[in-house]
Amino acid sequence: MTEFTDLPIRDDLKGLHPYGAPQIDVPVQLNVNENTFGIPEPVLDDIAAELGRAIRGANRYPDREFTALRDGLAAYVGHGVAPEQIWAANGSNEIFQQLLQAFGGIGRTMLGFRPTYSMYPLLSAGVGVRWIGVDRQEDWEVSADYAIAAVEREHPDIVVLCTPNNPTGTPLGLDVIEAIYDAHPGMLIVDEAYVEFQDAPSAVTLLPGRERLVVSRTMSKAFAFAGVRLGYLVADPAVADALRLVRLPYHLSVLTQAAAVAALRHSGEMLAQVDAIKRQRDRMIRELTVLGYRPYPTASNFVLFGGVADPQRIFQGLLDAGVIIRDVGIPNTLRVTAGTEEETTAFLEALARLAD
Ligand code: PMP
Repeated sequence: MTEFTDLPIRDDLKGLHPYGAPQIDVPVQLNVNENTFGIPEPVLDDIAAELGRAIRGANRYPDREFTALRDGLAAYVGHGVAPEQIWAANGSNEIFQQLLQAFGGIGRTMLGFRPTYSMYPLLSAGVGVRWIGVDRQEDWEVSADYAIAAVEREHPDIVVLCTPNNPTGTPLGLDVIEAIYDAHPGMLIVDEAYVEFQDAPSAVTLLPGRERLVVSRTMSKAFAFAGVRLGYLVADPAVADALRLVRLPYHLSVLTQAAAVAALRHSGEMLAQVDAIKRQRDRMIRELTVLGYRPYPTASNFVLFGGVADPQRIFQGLLDAGVIIRDVGIPNTLRVTAGTEEETTAFLEALARLAD
């Protein structure tokens, strides 16, 4: 059987592994930080109507500038953000890929604080960028002094800060982001995929006067839109101009644009769900503690918990009970997404039965 390494593939891709969170069809899926509440019925109806209209124009290429979507996203983000400051793509993964194509490329570097989102190294490798992973401090924190020392030591072209950080849940203060921006002459990307679940203000508030700062967001989490694929960034309009050089023509389909425009009309209903998810997250934190585990502080829709003697046994035991969570490879820890009340109960009861 031919292996990909038998083909004349680039040497620097040999030995890499594709992204591969397991997709297993069990009743309770709490493994990839999705919004398990789903899209409320009235919102679904409106999106379906918009999709029905959009498909009638699908013989034409979509609006390359996704004007209506940018208007909707700018209004949703608020803070006086103008539509020209918005750029969107098929998930924030594609936002990152485009940023790496425009501001990275062969011979350049991107630095981040690990453990962090597993796609940063792989997206970097895809465009010949060298990934520099710097270990986080105690309890996954990153202080301004620590980050600045790393930046001054490594001189990366791009710094990426994930806040709240996946997979640890750790938030980063705006003061730390500001200090890193001042110490780093390159692009600074703040990945706010989970920002709706945090109580602190967004890094969008730091944008005025900081043209090298990019705030990346997604509709995959709070908007329950993981399957639609819609990520976006907020930055100086010059950043969007740079990305126009590397994006594929018409990269956002008419259906994607229509679905997202309709969903944004219902941000109020979607954010109401966020509160319910946060309640289940906080319940998980409390009950995991009662069970003797050590949940780390989290500002997102998931919880990383330590004190797991044998993560593989617990993972498998939960799976056998119809509950999938995530072993992210950090010793003695597991990560679980906050689910609906019923899903959260199913997880906690199955875990209690497995007593570590
Ligand atoms: N950033 C972080 C921190 C994530 O956890 C994820 C998805 N798990 C993404 C970006 C990518 O999300 P999407 O491409 O669905 O927008």
